[in-house]
Amino acid sequence: MAETSTQSSGRPSLPMQGVPQPRRDEVLNLPRVHISSHPVLADKLTALRDKHTSVPEFYRLVQEIGALLAYEATASLVLEPYAVETPMESMVGQRLAGGIGITPILRAGLGLAEGFRQVIPDAQIWHLGLRRDEETLQALEYYNRLPHTVDLQVCYAVDPMLATGGSAIDAINVLKRRGIPRLSYVGIIAAPYGLLKLAQTHPDIDIYIGALDDNLNDRGYILPGLGDAGDRQFGTF
Ligand code: URA
Repeated sequence: MAETSTQSSGRPSLPMQGVPQPRRDEVLNLPRVHISSHPVLADKLTALRDKHTSVPEFYRLVQEIGALLAYEATASLVLEPYAVETPMESMVGQRLAGGIGITPILRAGLGLAEGFRQVIPDAQIWHLGLRRDEETLQALEYYNRLPHTVDLQVCYAVDPMLATGGSAIDAINVLKRRGIPRLSYVGIIAAPYGLLKLAQTHPDIDIYIGALDDNLNDRGYILPGLGDAGDRQFGTF
């Protein structure tokens, strides 16, 4: 893409140019932010970042990382007692107290949501379409299939790249308006800028990420990152 600083509209095409960004070490210990230290996830993430990784392999890795992040993000879910008959006798087991929702932010969140479904097959999937305006980096809502009635204990908004934080903040705003008691954001890679924005705007949610990278380039892409997570999942180069 052209690295020009203005376009014919007069609006900046390098929206992060000159914008101050926090350093990585400044956001490492934010409350309610969980950065995975799982070695299997780190291994898969390196393969995901590799520019030689093919589209099908990239999508498979996103799903696998989604399953690992789901395992971490669901560790504090609430259980309730549940009577069950084993082939041997009766006992009181446990089951999840209340439904689980997964909101993939289209389209890059689709692979992550598939990974989540492998861990929680009963989860409700609510698609939410937020497109990033490349000029302003504002999130624009173009699709919303949230159900009319909700009865959930938690909903996870999933999107691989937490860059400027715009889409994540908007997705949480949409979900908050539905009155869901507990919300989390789950992403694969975060930039310090977007992580800080999301944590400051929504201090009442949990944020789970696979890795915290260095910074954003002038166009708002994460460095070192992995490029465009949507294009790499669906081969739209
Ligand atoms: N979205 C992406 O897919 N990649 C980035 O680096 C930033 C936003």
